[in-house]
Amino acid sequence: MNDINVIAIDGPAASGKSTISQLLAERLGFLFLDTGCMYRAVTLAALRRGIAVTDETAVTHLAQEIDIDIQPETGAGGRHGRHSDGRHYTVLLDGQDTTWAIRTPAVDAHVSQVSSYLGVRQEMVQRQRLLGARGGIVMVGRDIGTVVMPDAPLKLYITATAEERARRRWHDRRRQGHEADYDAILADVKRRDGIDSSREHSPLRPAADALMIDTTGRPVDEIVEALMSLVKGQYSVSSMQ
Ligand code: C5P
Repeated sequence: MNDINVIAIDGPAASGKSTISQLLAERLGFLFLDTGCMYRAVTLAALRRGIAVTDETAVTHLAQEIDIDIQPETGAGGRHGRHSDGRHYTVLLDGQDTTWAIRTPAVDAHVSQVSSYLGVRQEMVQRQRLLGARGGIVMVGRDIGTVVMPDAPLKLYITATAEERARRRWHDRRRQGHEADYDAILADVKRRDGIDSSREHSPLRPAADALMIDTTGRPVDEIVEALMSLVKGQYSVSSMQ
C-alpha cells in the first residue's frame, strides 16, 4: 500500500470542500490548511492599508512583506477551547486576529483580483509548499493538485451547482448574524468562478488525475465516509485514528 501524507483538494467557492477537508483532516489526524485564507489575508491587508487592489506592484510587495499565520483550534478544552465563535482555525495577520475580517463581502469582492497576480501567487505557493513539506496535511484551494502539490498521492476536485453554493453562502452569512441577499451572493459566486477559471496564472481546474466529487444534494457525512473508506482501502496512514 502507498503511504499518504498529503491530500490535495480543489474546487470552486462554497463547494463544500472546506467542510469535507476539515472532517477528513480531523479523522486522519492531519493538519488542515485552507489556502484561500492566505489570499484573503493579503486582500484584507491591502484594503486596510489603503492600497489599491488594482496596483499589482504594490499588492505584490505587500504579499511578500506581511506575516500570515494559521493556527488550528487546539487550545485547552479541545477544538473550541480558546474561542466559542464557531471557528475551526485562527488566522493571524501580522499578529492580529483576522479570522472573521477576511470573510466580509469587501474581501469577497476583491480577493479574485488579488489572487490573479503572479507575484502574489508565487509568494503564497512558496509558503504553502513549506507547510506541505512537513506532511500529514490536507491542503485546500484552487491550484493545490495542479501547481502547489502536484505529487500528492490523492487529489480531489469538489464541486456543486452555483445555485447550491450560493444557498450555502447565504445560510453561512445568516448564521453569522449578517444580512444576506441570495441574488447578490449568486452573482458573486458566478463572478468569482469566472475570474478564477479564466485567469492566466494557475486557473481553477481539476488535475488530470483528480477524483471528481459533486456535492449537490449529498450530505457531507456520506461523502466523508466514502472518502475515508477509499483512503483506508488504498493507502497506509500512520496517524489515522
Ligand atoms: O476558498 P476561498 O473562497 O476562501 O478563496 C478565496 C479566493 O482566493 C478564491 O476566489 C480565489 O480567487 C483565491 N484562491 C486562489 N488559490 C487558492 C485558494 C484561493 O486563487 N489556492
